[in-house]
Amino acid sequence: MAIVGAGFTGLWTAFYLKELEPSLRVAIVEAEIAGFGASGRNGGWCLGTLAGIGSLLESEPEGAIRLQQELFATVDEVGRVAEQEGIDCHWAKGGNITVATSEPFREHLLEEQDHWRQIGVGEEDVRWMEPDECADLVRTSTNLGGLFLAPVAALHPMRLVRGLAEAVERRGVAIYECSPAVELKRRSVITPAGQLRADLVVRATEGYTCTIPGHERVLLPVHSMMIATEPLPESTWDEIGFTNRVTFGDPRRNVTYGQRTADGRIAFGCRGTYFFGSKIHNRFSPDAPVFGEVRKVLESFFPVLRDHAITHRWGGALGIPRTWTPSVGMDRDAGLGWAGGYVGEGVGPSNLAGRTLAELILERDTHRTTLPLVGEPFTSWEPEPMRFLGYWALDHFAEGLDDANLRGRPAPRLRSSVYNHFVRK
Ligand SMILES: Cc1cc2nc3c(=O)[nH]c(=O)nc-3n(C[C@H](O)[C@H](O)[C@H](O)COP(=O)(O)OP(=O)(O)OC[C@H]3O[C@@H](n4cnc5c(N)ncnc54)[C@H](O)[C@@H]3O)c2cc1C
Repeated sequence: MAIVGAGFTGLWTAFYLKELEPSLRVAIVEAEIAGFGASGRNGGWCLGTLAGIGSLLESEPEGAIRLQQELFATVDEVGRVAEQEGIDCHWAKGGNITVATSEPFREHLLEEQDHWRQIGVGEEDVRWMEPDECADLVRTSTNLGGLFLAPVAALHPMRLVRGLAEAVERRGVAIYECSPAVELKRRSVITPAGQLRADLVVRATEGYTCTIPGHERVLLPVHSMMIATEPLPESTWDEIGFTNRVTFGDPRRNVTYGQRTADGRIAFGCRGTYFFGSKIHNRFSPDAPVFGEVRKVLESFFPVLRDHAITHRWGGALGIPRTWTPSVGMDRDAGLGWAGGYVGEGVGPSNLAGRTLAELILERDTHRTTLPLVGEPFTSWEPEPMRFLGYWALDHFAEGLDDANLRGRPAPRLRSSVYNHFVRK
């Protein structure tokens, strides 16, 4: 087996392949180093949900509900493997709170709770918290209550991805770093240094897929931007909360995500940017204005943070499919398997995707291989300049909706997370 990309998807696929079939020869080629991509740069929310499940609920309700239950269980599976493999990834399953910072947001979240109930998800997994209870977890400047999702853990993503790379190497997987695939062929992967021959090839390159010739329009690379504060004193934590290292955001479409890190900082991100021609940026100047915007959003939740320094600024590319729905699949005729398209929510779901892909490759029939996650190759995005114009228009439209909602004006919600599909309707 040849796997292209040593992020969570490639590594989880390798991990479960070796669990199921220890004698299998597996090699991974990675353009940079393991964890260089989104897997080493994300907000560390290990979520038991997945973008795109809303639309699956319409087309395949029974399968989508099974998928949701699998996703809840996947959070514990990630924690289990981390513990088993001795990966100190600062795992803390404190749940997630989405705080209503305006009346329209409060209404959207209450509707969202109803949708969870409609698919049989109970109070133990998802429930509304009134402002007092919400403030026990996190204390934002405006708090009209919040929706609590229990199956979510905070973790240190780079520690997890590097630990996983070591775990698969211990099982005999070869990882070739600094070895970009320049061509994916049937039964081989071409790199500048040589050719890797294999029975099957797995593409696990998510936001970077567009850099591989012939795969340019498979996934849209959208950048999300993050900052981290200096370690905060106890007095500041007393003021803002983050009890049990709960992860935190609000319901705006321009997704906001924060966690209290194990070393006492807030790592916080938002803002999606697509660059013309699917250009990917891996490094950003710390003076880039976008980081000022991210900081402004963070301080709007927690004004006390104005008195604290921002010590880290970074960003990275995630992958968005044309249908906004992730996919796992194996085309045996082409000799190519794939997994991804998580729309910025892949930390937990990549485990389920990798495990499912390993089972598909080894032709093991399990309850996972019939999930609606398993499907067709991704639909191609439009050529430029349509791609850029389409994203730009959607982004501006969504920002307008966010602005209206934040000012307390009702406007439909548009965001790619669970059940918003229904909210949009
Ligand atoms: C800033 C940011 C914050 C995020 N926050 C969260 C979050 O809090 N929770 C969450 O669930 N998700 C989050 N995400 C999304 C999540 O990180 C991704 O969904 C997940 O990491 C995808 O993993 P992957 O292995 O599929 O892709 P990646 O981690 O991107 O791995 C792809 C790998 O392929 C390599 N590669 C590229 N081209 C080639 C080539 N030609 N040959 C060989 N290798 C190649 C890359 O170097 C990279 O290592 C965030 C993403 C970003 C960017």
